[in-house]
Amino acid sequence: MPALDEAARQSVHELLRRHFGYDSLRPLQAEAIAAGLARQDSLVVLPTGGGKSICYQMPPLIAQRLDVVVSPLIALMKDQVDGLVANGYPAAALHSGMSEDDRAAVRHGLQEGRYRLLFVSPERLSNDAFVAGLRRYGVSSFAIDEAHCISQWGHDFRPEYRQLARLRELFPGASLHAFTATATPRVREDIREQLALREPVELVGNFDRPNLTYRIVPRIKARDQTIEILSRHHGEAGIVYCLSRRETEEMAAALVAAGIKAAHYHAGLSADQRNRTQEQFSEEKLDVVVATVAFGMGIDRGDVRCVIHAAMPKSIEHYQQETGRAGRDGLEAECVLLHSPADSIRWEGLMRRSTSEAEGDPATLDAALDAQLKLLRDMQRFCSAVTCRHRALCRYFGQESADADAPGGCGACDCCLGEVETLHDSTLAARQILSAVARVQQRFGAKHVADVLHGAASENVIKWGHQELSVYGLMRERPLPAIQNLVYQLVDAGLLASTGGDRPVLTLTPHAMPVLKGEVEVTLLRPRIKAKATKSAVAEAGWKGVDRDLFEWLRQLRRRIAERIGKPPYVVFADETLREMARRRPSTLEGFARLRGVGARKLRDYGDEFLAAIEGSCRERGLGRDMES
Ligand code: ADP
Ligand code: ZN
Repeated sequence: MPALDEAARQSVHELLRRHFGYDSLRPLQAEAIAAGLARQDSLVVLPTGGGKSICYQMPPLIAQRLDVVVSPLIALMKDQVDGLVANGYPAAALHSGMSEDDRAAVRHGLQEGRYRLLFVSPERLSNDAFVAGLRRYGVSSFAIDEAHCISQWGHDFRPEYRQLARLRELFPGASLHAFTATATPRVREDIREQLALREPVELVGNFDRPNLTYRIVPRIKARDQTIEILSRHHGEAGIVYCLSRRETEEMAAALVAAGIKAAHYHAGLSADQRNRTQEQFSEEKLDVVVATVAFGMGIDRGDVRCVIHAAMPKSIEHYQQETGRAGRDGLEAECVLLHSPADSIRWEGLMRRSTSEAEGDPATLDAALDAQLKLLRDMQRFCSAVTCRHRALCRYFGQESADADAPGGCGACDCCLGEVETLHDSTLAARQILSAVARVQQRFGAKHVADVLHGAASENVIKWGHQELSVYGLMRERPLPAIQNLVYQLVDAGLLASTGGDRPVLTLTPHAMPVLKGEVEVTLLRPRIKAKATKSAVAEAGWKGVDRDLFEWLRQLRRRIAERIGKPPYVVFADETLREMARRRPSTLEGFARLRGVGARKLRDYGDEFLAAIEGSCRERGLGRDMES
């Protein structure tokens, strides 16, 4: 394992303070930087928000050389370069989205040796003139960001990443450093092979994200529940994931109608429309983006305080990746999954259909389908278990979480916070549902069974004379969608089976009998719009001592400055730094310089302006200054 020697350690700390305003490294950053300095191949797997960027930003700065970063998305490069330049870090990008003038300026800068990092897209490396240029500048180290894009086992496979396999031949003497947040062993192995890494140092971080609070609640009305959850995050950034394009549009419209600054985002929109939405979100002109999985990789907004899944993703990898976009700044954030076991049935149908329509070798297709179904079942099991979510996620990625065994558990999931509500008359409800399935001769689906129990006069109920059944209207007092959710919970519990196909029918399984006879008790989750949501300890700590009004005031100042310089607000300061300002309320530039996230460049650029705002606000409201942290 490479380690930093004393001199390198000192430079890292000095540069970390000067450019980024940070006092210490995060776990594995030192080792990753050491590998970069020693130019020894590495594979660094850190969760989203774990701080991968610093790992490739430091070595060229210390060694005073030029390194190349390969990055999948132009938007991502642009954000990163903006962020670096704002910190006084010499970086540039070369990509097809730039004007010829801008590109010429960067080339000139390269000739002058002005940069430490150059961001490029993978396609650029198939350009001979470009490759010759890199050789001339003596580039000896490449960082491959989002390296899982090279693997078709990853969830973001990008064919253009395959061109990176040539790097080794093109630059035999250079070291390659792969970075990803995707932890599955298979993807890791693929990355090592495709890039032909030479005895890479492998650094795999802790996948637990203690600042995220996970909640999985029964879904009854996705829109009402989403609005209810977002009301806890007024004015904060959020992402809502839906399964289909149409659902994103309907959800966004419902949010807008509820007064939330929201927009939808999916792959069916034009590139222009998508860019506009991304930009508005970065600029804090939009609070919530309602999206399909297509959204996320290009966003660098670290202050997402809430990620809501309106339906279940098809694998835990997807869930981890999507929830990982919350709280990247390390501050508390909430992830809520609105769950119905019906999602699983829907996914399975989609997967089977796309396999049957796909062309290729049937054995291979079947194997791929099996693999998908296994991932889906793991996800479903994760959702229906009532155990610590942090622990379940860590276990899935082959790790143990430290907190889950502590008294009170992790303190940041619905199970450990004691929020999971069960239906007090679960067994009775289960028996009523099972009887209804029997009474309709096991020939109808969940919706019809729920209609009968609710006492609805639907077309089918009338047509089949089901209003005459003894079970008709037994659950009159429960809302229809809640009954449906309960029905699916019984499918999930294995008491009911659902046939596949376009019109699934519910049948009783052998496990239903003992319940109907009253021999076995059942526990069901209580579906309701306003689920319990206690404040986690992380959330409490994140706001401790912070004057909320001052924070909002500083946020507005940040937004004005961002507009003035034409950059997203997080480029000015991260939320954490604003909270520090609103907590410690420094009265001098020296005090300001000590805040986390304030480097020399930002002190010079914004120090006076923020100090004046703090000064004015504190005087007006009689707030104490220069508080200890
Ligand atoms: P990743 O690429 O792994 O998702 P980033 O590199 O974007 O994560 O880092 C996530 C956040 O953590 C950023 O806001 C970054 O500035 C911050 N960060 C990274 N390293 C440190 C550190 N050593 N101390 C404090 N903040 C850090
Ligand atoms: Zn927990």
